[in-house]
Amino acid sequence: MVSRSVIVETVGLKKTYNSGTDKAVEVLHGVDMIAYSGEFIAIIGQSGSGKSTLLNILGALDKPTEGSASIDGVEIGSLDALGLAKLRGQKIGFVFQFHHLLEEFTCLENVLMPVSIQKGAPEKDDTSYAKLLLTRVGLETQLNKRANQMSGGQQQRTAIVRALCNKPKLVLADEPTGNLDSRSGAEVFALMREIARELGVTFLMVTHDDRLAAAADRILRIEDGYLTEVTNE
Ligand code: ADP
Ligand code: MG
Repeated sequence: MVSRSVIVETVGLKKTYNSGTDKAVEVLHGVDMIAYSGEFIAIIGQSGSGKSTLLNILGALDKPTEGSASIDGVEIGSLDALGLAKLRGQKIGFVFQFHHLLEEFTCLENVLMPVSIQKGAPEKDDTSYAKLLLTRVGLETQLNKRANQMSGGQQQRTAIVRALCNKPKLVLADEPTGNLDSRSGAEVFALMREIARELGVTFLMVTHDDRLAAAADRILRIEDGYLTEVTNE
């Protein structure tokens, strides 16, 4: 059997907003989780339960108040702003509910934007990998279309490719189908599911859709600030 490496690990992870003030609220009370390479994990939980808070910490956009969180062996709490940015750039891809594409730029330019920012300009290999992924998601005829000329599903597929372009170990997707009709949502979900498997990337996806969650390798639920594994019946 191929050994699986640990991509995400949290131990006793707590998050308090407005820590040290009279408005302090502890949102995560001690989250222990582990995710291995290539796993596709759904995260469910009521609105306000702390799903985005957890994803922001795992995405090195925010830090734990207590406890630890590491991505591919790198402890987030130990990093300064530069280290966090480097970790994000090298190991993590993000997909949000809204695609956040730059409307005046083409599909291909949007996909290459993070690489362009990191390196100044994309290299030949970056462009060919971007085209390969765009073809994989069925956008080979859309490369030069402006983002605002594409459909919602096409825009979200572009955003997924953008998240994958720097060959991340981990993709964090916060309600990526939340803004699509159920059919394009299901298509976009299926595509992410297949690509995760093909590339061996770990996906953590927040969703409100129980049917989509049921198709994940594992389901984690956040409730009252604690994370529990949902066992398939
Ligand atoms: P979810 O994504 O599950 O809907 P969030 O992680 O966005 O939940 O929010 C969890 C709780 O933390 C909510 O009560 C929310 O109001 C609060 N919260 C989120 N972000 C902040 C912030 N920056 N400052 C203060 N409270 C916040
Ligand atoms: Mg949220």
